[in-house]
This record gives sequence, structure tokens and C-alpha cells, in this order.
Amino acid sequence: MTLTAAWRQVLDRATPASPLRPSVEGLRHALEQALAGEALGAAQGYALMEATGTDLTALMLVAAALRDTGRGERVTYSRKVFLPLTNLCRDRCGYCTFVKAPGETDAHTMTPDEVLAVAREGARCGCKEALFSLGDHPEWRYPEALRQLRALGYESTPEYVAAMCRLVLEETGLLPHTNCGVLSADELLLLRGVNVSMGLMLENVSPRLLERGGPHFGCETKDPRVRLETLTRAGELGIAMTTGILIGIGETYQERVDSLIAIRELHRRYGHIQEVIIQNFRAKPRTRMAGMAEPTTLDMARTVAMARLLLGPDMNIQAPPNLNADGCQVYLLAGINDWGGVSPVTRDYINPEAPWPEVARLRQLTQETGQALHERLALYPEYVRNSAWELAPALGRRVRELSDEEGYVRKELEAW
Ligand code: SF4
Repeated sequence: MTLTAAWRQVLDRATPASPLRPSVEGLRHALEQALAGEALGAAQGYALMEATGTDLTALMLVAAALRDTGRGERVTYSRKVFLPLTNLCRDRCGYCTFVKAPGETDAHTMTPDEVLAVAREGARCGCKEALFSLGDHPEWRYPEALRQLRALGYESTPEYVAAMCRLVLEETGLLPHTNCGVLSADELLLLRGVNVSMGLMLENVSPRLLERGGPHFGCETKDPRVRLETLTRAGELGIAMTTGILIGIGETYQERVDSLIAIRELHRRYGHIQEVIIQNFRAKPRTRMAGMAEPTTLDMARTVAMARLLLGPDMNIQAPPNLNADGCQVYLLAGINDWGGVSPVTRDYINPEAPWPEVARLRQLTQETGQALHERLALYPEYVRNSAWELAPALGRRVRELSDEEGYVRKELEAW
């Protein structure tokens, strides 16, 4: 692709280099390289993250142009129900309000009846996805959690999750997508048979964040090596994965770039990263990080643009609209092509203070930037269309029932 006259002008006006900012020529070269489909290196990413003023405008413009090249004008979302199967967890991250300990007010593990009631309501409201999002192996930390699982007839949380995914699929036809933390190969195999895709946020590759005073101090599951292992195993097993980074938790710009490059390397090896989320930290009362500053809209936009440049035109890049209701349109201008899951039935249990926008509102926000909203399944269209991407037979059948020839939700099944 050649450069458009508009952003050539932007580049020509770019501010002079400083010790931190890239030179005009360095910026031009990196952006032309990205537009030509060549991978950027870490050093280029570090320099581009420091862009300000018109340099930053150019970065976003190129990121949006790249998105248009790979994804066209379609911006997607998934209509879902959120099933917080248990809010017990073996970790305690510095920003998490979801997690509870046994005996605490609001500590809860859903029963099969509760799961089914929510899923049925979701199906009635036109949802296609059942998002199981829960704490990581609480039974390894709390004897009460193990007793509770055994009373339900299971030995581990992943076993219980798998059974509930099967129940929901069979009884409601919703397609399960599970986020339940780090998993062994056996656990992933178990869940692969009842999930169209799964999720695990990488969050950040920096081990520094595990140090005393850091957001992940004392959190075994947040060791980046452990998370990369799970994402690698998922690749080996052919599981379509959603992952991403959490920004504003004390990481540096360089560490964000390193994290995005680590995701790129995983996808290069296995082709299984169907979506990368750029999520902004929210400071919540009664957490260790309640007093920390949240990332600005511009910081999010910069990081979204950087993700597009590093991950290329074809990657699905998402930023949640409910965590920045006023500024989320800027993410579209910086290169995202997906809003993630939106629920007409359940709230965002991880960020309960942030309601999801109505689908009609999301459509309006999308149209105002010149794009069009389309409903997708929990498995992205390119994976739906890829006959080499094997799903368990019951999942495959249901995906075919719900999707059109391009892999999106059939028009007649879209519920506005
Ligand atoms: S963020 Fe996830 S891993 Fe950390 S405490 Fe909360 S539920 Fe557990």
C-alpha cells in the first residue's frame, strides 16, 4: 500500500525528534513498514510508544488504515450472558473486586440450576455466547471450596466448568467460552470438547509486577511464564484463544510492547490467537490499588494503535466499551475492530460499576465513526470458515446453525 496524501502531510509536519521520541524519518520508516505488512521490531515499538502530538496522530491514522485493510468496515460484538461460576480464587490481585474468600459476604458458587436459569434467559434474549468467567482453582487454596465441589459431584473447578458448559450447550444452544485461569494440558483438553474458544489474559510479560508492592505480588497464576505456558498448550491443542494486556497497573511502555510481541510470537507459531484485548485498569474502592491513577483515553488509544501496528491488519483487536463509555469511540479511530461481549441480561461481574451499553447505542457509536456493527459468535468468523479448525461435533453443528457463509451470525438471528 502507498501512503495517503493525508497522512504524508501529517508525517511531514511531525514534531522534531527528542531523546525519547522517534525521529521523523524513524517514524516514517516504521509506519511505512507496518503498512507494507512487515513486522515491527521491539526497538521500533518502544520508540513509537513515545510518540506525541502529530506523531501520535500519524500512529493512530496508520493503525486505523491497517485495520481497514485487514478487517474492512466491520466492527463486531458478541451477544452473551456472563456466568461467574465462582468468585472464589486461589489468588488476590491488587485490583480485583470480583474475588471473595469463603465466608465473605457475596462469596458465591453458582449451582447448575442457577447457571441454567441465566443461560435460558440469555437464549430468550437472543444471546449466542455463554461466557464462563471465574476464579482460578479455588480448591487448591480453600478446603471449603473443595468440599463444595465434591458436594456437587466434582473433584476440580475445571471439571465443574466442563459439566456446566455441556449442560448449557445441550439445554440452551448457547456456545460456551471459558475464562478460568491457568490450565494443564488435561484440563484444556477437557474444556476443548465443550468450548468454541477460551480466554486467558496475558496481562503483561513483566515479572517485575510480581514483586512486593506490585499488582501481582503473591499471585502464582499471574507469573507470566505460567500464563504463556497455558497459552502455548492451547496452541498445541488447537484451541482458539482470546488474550490481551491490562494497562495501567505499573508496567512501562516497553513492557506493553514486549507483551504484545510475545502474543504475536504465540500466534505465529500456532495461529490460535483469535482476539487481543487492550483493557484499561480501573481503580476500585477497597482494593490495594484504589488510589492509583487510571490510564487516560489517550493512553488507551496509543496502546490500541501500537497493538494494531505490532499485530498487523488481520488480528482482531478489542477494547471494552463499558470501561470508558465516554471515550470508547476513539478506540475505533486507533484501530480496534471489536467491542467484545455485550450482555442484555447480566452485568459485567468483573467491573460491576460499568454497565454495558445497549446494542443500539453501540451501533450508533460505531456508525458515527463510519463503520458498521455486526454480531459475531464466540468463535471469530475466520475460524468458523476455516474447515481445518476442528470443533467437537455438537459445537460444530451449533456453530453452523448460527453462522452465515462468511462466519458471522445469520442476519435473521441477530437480535437488536
Ligand atoms: S483478577 Fe482473576 S486471578 Fe486475580 S484475584 Fe481476581 S479472579 Fe483471581
